[in-house]
Amino acid sequence: MGAMSAVDATPVSPDNPLRDESPLPFGLPPFADITPEHCREALIAGMAVQRAEVAAIAASPEPADFANTVVALEESGRLLSRAEAVFGNLASSISSPRMREIEREIAPLEAAHADAIFLDPALFARIDAVHEGRHEAGLDAEGVRLVERYHLDFVLAGARLDDAGRARLTELNQELSTLSTTFGQNLQLATEAAAVRVPDAADLEGLDPEQVASAAAAAAERGLDGYLLTLVLPTGQPALARLRNRDVRRRLFQASIDRASSGEHDNGPVAVRIARLRAERARLLGFDTHADLVLADQTARTTDAVDGMLASMVPASVANAEKEAAVLGELAARDGVELAPWDWAFYSEQVRAERYAVDTAALRPWFELDRVLVDGVFHAAELLYGYRFTPRPDLVGYHPDVRVWEVSDADGAAVGLYLGDFFAREGKRGGAWMSSFVRQSRLLGTCPVVVNNLNVSRPAAGQPTLLTLDEVNTLFHEFGHTLHGLSSAVTYPRFSGTAVPRDFVEFPSQVNEMWALWPQVLGHYARHIETDEPLPSAVVEAIDAAALWGEGFGTLEYLAATLLDQAWHRIGPDTEIPDPIAFEREALQKAGVASELVPPRYRTTYFQHIFAGGYAAGYYSYIWSEVLDADTVEWFKENGGLRRENGDTFRGRLLSVGGSVDPLEAFRAVRGRDADPTPLLRRRGLMPAT
Ligand SMILES: [Zn+2]
Repeated sequence: MGAMSAVDATPVSPDNPLRDESPLPFGLPPFADITPEHCREALIAGMAVQRAEVAAIAASPEPADFANTVVALEESGRLLSRAEAVFGNLASSISSPRMREIEREIAPLEAAHADAIFLDPALFARIDAVHEGRHEAGLDAEGVRLVERYHLDFVLAGARLDDAGRARLTELNQELSTLSTTFGQNLQLATEAAAVRVPDAADLEGLDPEQVASAAAAAAERGLDGYLLTLVLPTGQPALARLRNRDVRRRLFQASIDRASSGEHDNGPVAVRIARLRAERARLLGFDTHADLVLADQTARTTDAVDGMLASMVPASVANAEKEAAVLGELAARDGVELAPWDWAFYSEQVRAERYAVDTAALRPWFELDRVLVDGVFHAAELLYGYRFTPRPDLVGYHPDVRVWEVSDADGAAVGLYLGDFFAREGKRGGAWMSSFVRQSRLLGTCPVVVNNLNVSRPAAGQPTLLTLDEVNTLFHEFGHTLHGLSSAVTYPRFSGTAVPRDFVEFPSQVNEMWALWPQVLGHYARHIETDEPLPSAVVEAIDAAALWGEGFGTLEYLAATLLDQAWHRIGPDTEIPDPIAFEREALQKAGVASELVPPRYRTTYFQHIFAGGYAAGYYSYIWSEVLDADTVEWFKENGGLRRENGDTFRGRLLSVGGSVDPLEAFRAVRGRDADPTPLLRRRGLMPAT
């Protein structure tokens, strides 16, 4: 590979704006000049350049050391990272048919690129040697951790296997990737086939006119008369809360839970095959089960830790769901029926309306986008962390909707850039997220350039943008990820900001949600768009009170799905599972979460997250980070809430370190001890009565 040493001969055309580091402030990409073809060219060239850089590292005649191997790898692939950051963000926010074409072309090339690096024996031998001597090399703690991190990345990707092992691993990966695609496609087709036909509008009584119209449109789209109730992914279907016709509710519920469990699109055997192959791969890589393999890379670390946390919540969740069931059972009895699973959401909605009477739609005039952002989100960040936000209308985003702010510290020092892209539009994917264009790193001399995307409906021309309470929470949440990215103060890009395990990354963002309804913050931003009146405190209290109703159900259906995920990923490669439905039933019974009235949020045959997504053995992550979140909210409250001192501690000990220290150690550095699940149970109304 010596012939490839001329890595500076970048095969990118000179007029490609991604060819060199951006000359704009903070390395903001020169969006106005970048086309999809520039991205494609830079991605392909970026892979070639990094292959050459890595080949040179692997072939070095020098003995392996930290600088010439691990740091050299950290410094490699800059063109590729630059192109990936731009292309990844644009493909999410301003996609087009051409962008999607490039995505399909590039994805397999990037997978092969990663394999070529991770399965290079000469390279791994060097990393292994550095890893062996890491404690005697005079490295600082971040350096030691970087070596360990690289070593683990390579080991988990199969670098330690012999030739036969590598060959088998490649086969397993290929078959698993095909099976995941099959699972997803089966599910899509089975879900479409399971849509419930309703001939008569009278049978849709209870739905609002928009829902009825969309059911009519769904039928018309398939050339059918009448109405069609199509299914969403989780077990619970939104229409169940409103439909007055009990038989239609029963049919809709049944269609949902039976999805892809028989016939042409049966996912049962696919799930079994996936679980068994994953088990085989885990054994090949030296782990007992797939769950052990996954957890080796997470803060939970062991299946015991996950089991312990989940088990501590089961009794209270079950008891609370039973209490809710009793209330609902009385309402059902008034109608002369015995409560069935398809009745739960319907009567639960009645309780919400009768007991709490919160009309969330009426709150929007208090939540104007810019006031929420500047007087709420930015204001809280200034009070807590000292951050200041200055509009930079001179800096151009990738779309006219995008606005740019420069972020500085309390002492005026530059921190980075924040881009806000809040409106829904064609070509933007759904949901809300934070992403980075540039990651902070002392090694590379970079400052963070972070973007938040939301999907708020654009108001009519000249009208203000009014948010729902959910959207306000989402903005605070996503900005929590932004704070993680902006506060980063690490040396190595591998550890920058949100580069933490999946079961930790939602924690700082969940914590930031606490300020949305914090009186001092709420009073500052939630002013009526016309009268400037603050949000009445009675309304705030009602929001708080209503939040607790239904948490028993919500937690139990989540725990059931989580424990089902764990059960599937604890089997051995030879475990016989003739009947996947029976396997599911037994797993739920064994875990103490089997309930006729509260089925898992996802059942096996439509559990896309774990069989066709990235959450295998990882669905626990949501509640795992929420334990840390709720306990941290307590910590803020115990220490006087919204104070600079608290923000400095949280920023200095946790946000700024990213993945450069053990995340749970960072948590302990703030909290002074391990996380206590009690605040989460209290928040979810799951504490036993005392
Ligand atoms: Zn998040």
